[in-house]
Amino acid sequence: MTLTEKLLARAAGKARVEPGENVWVKADVLMTHDVCGPGTIGVFKREFGKTAKVWDRNRVVIIPDHYIFTADSKSNRNVDILREFVKEQNLPYFYDVIDDPKGAWQFDASKGMLKRQYGSQYAGVCHTALPAKGHTRPGEVLFGTDSHTCMAGAFNEFATGIGNTDAGFVLGTGKLLLKVPETMRFRLEGKLQPGVMAKDLILHCIGEIGFDGATYRAMQFDGPGVASLSMDDRMTVANMAIEAGGKNAIFPFDARTAEYVDARVRLNGTNSRYEPVEADRDQKFVCELVVNLDQLEPTVACHPDPGQRKKAKEMTEMKLDRAYVGSCTGGKTSDFVEFARVLRGRKVTIDTFGVPATPDIVHDLQSTRWGGETIWEILVGAGVQMTENAGCAACLGGPVDTFGRMNKPGLKCISATNRNFPGRMGDKESQVFLASPATVAASAITGHVTDPREYLETGLCT
Ligand code: SF4
Repeated sequence: MTLTEKLLARAAGKARVEPGENVWVKADVLMTHDVCGPGTIGVFKREFGKTAKVWDRNRVVIIPDHYIFTADSKSNRNVDILREFVKEQNLPYFYDVIDDPKGAWQFDASKGMLKRQYGSQYAGVCHTALPAKGHTRPGEVLFGTDSHTCMAGAFNEFATGIGNTDAGFVLGTGKLLLKVPETMRFRLEGKLQPGVMAKDLILHCIGEIGFDGATYRAMQFDGPGVASLSMDDRMTVANMAIEAGGKNAIFPFDARTAEYVDARVRLNGTNSRYEPVEADRDQKFVCELVVNLDQLEPTVACHPDPGQRKKAKEMTEMKLDRAYVGSCTGGKTSDFVEFARVLRGRKVTIDTFGVPATPDIVHDLQSTRWGGETIWEILVGAGVQMTENAGCAACLGGPVDTFGRMNKPGLKCISATNRNFPGRMGDKESQVFLASPATVAASAITGHVTDPREYLETGLCT
C-alpha cells in the first residue's frame, strides 16, 4: 500500500484498503475557523441536538484567522460565535483573538492596519498555527473545514479539507466515510538550487498535471530529494496539492519530521505519542513523475489558474501593479527571510504588502538581526508595508477593508499565496500571478515579473 492507503487502513481498523473503496475513518483532529466554524456548529446542533457534546473535546481545534482584521461586524461576530461554543463545550484548544473570555471581538479601524490588535492566545493562519501549536502528528488523520488542510501532509499524516456538513458529523461522531484515493507519485531527486524555492517545485508539478490533474487523488512526494527539503518547504508543497484538485498530499516521515513535531508538542504540552507510516515495497501508483530539483527554475503560475505555468525569466514583459507576500503557503519565517534576502539594500517600486502568517513569525522577523537591522526593519526600509496583524488578510480577498485587498479592476499582483482564480484576492477583474517569495521580491523591485537569480548573481543578496 502507498502511504495514504496505509494511513487510511489503520484509521479504518482494516489490514488493507484499495483505491476506490469506501471506508469509515476515525478522526484524530478536527480543525475549524471563523468562516466555516459557525456553519459547522449550526449543522452539529441541528443534527445532534442543542445540548449535544462534541465527540472528544481534546481533538477539536478552533483557530480564527480569516476575516479578523476588518470592521465588518458580521465577520467580527463569527469569532464571538466560536468563543460561545468553546465555552459551552469546554474546549481546550481555542486560539482566540482577544484575551477576555467574556469579551466580544471588535476590530478598531481607527488604529490603522499595521499595529497588532490581537491578544496573547491568537495564533494566526490555521494551517501554519496547527503544526506550530503541536496539533500535527505523523500517522494521524486531520480533517479541517478548509481546502488547504492538505498542508499537514508534510508531517506524514492524512490531512484533507471537508465541508461544514461533514465537519458537523465529525464533531458529533469522530468519524467520516471516505473513498480511498488513488495515489500519484512525485519522486524527487537532487537539490533545489540558489534562488529556487519549494514554491517553484509545487508550481512546476501543478504545471505538469494541470489544475485538475490530481482530482480526488493523493499526491505522494518521496525519493532522495525529500531529505534536502525543510519542514517549511514540505508544508509549501503539500499546501498546494488542492490547487491540482488533490484529496491530500503526503510526505514520508524522517528525522526532520520527528525533530519538528517533537519540539512543538513538547513546547505546547499536546499529545506527544504518534506512529508514522512507512510505504510498502509493493505500493502501486496511478502514475509516477520524476522531478529533478536541480533543474527547476523560478516559476510563475499565471492568471487565471494555478496550472498556467511559465518560467519567471520568460515573463519579463509582464508589468505589475503590486506584490504580496503572506498566507499559509508564503507567509512563514523562511519565506520572509528569502524575500528580505533579495530586497536587502534595495527599494520596491510598486505597492508591496507583507503579512506574516502567525504572531510568532512577526516576533521572529522583529527579533532576528542581520547586521544592525532586524528583518522587519530591512523590509520596511525597502518600502514594504508590513502588518503585525498576522492572518489570511487578502489571500482570499475578504471584506473591502482587508489589508492588501485588490479593490480595483485590472490590477496585476505577483503573490506568494496559493490560489489565483479570478476574484481570489478581491476584484473579479484583477489578476494574480503566483510565485515564490524570492520571485515576488525581485519583481517588486523592477515592477515586472523578474527572475530572482538576477539579484543573487550580483552577490548583493548574501
Ligand atoms: S492564508 Fe489563504 S489559503 Fe491559507 S487558510 Fe488563509 S485564506 Fe486559506
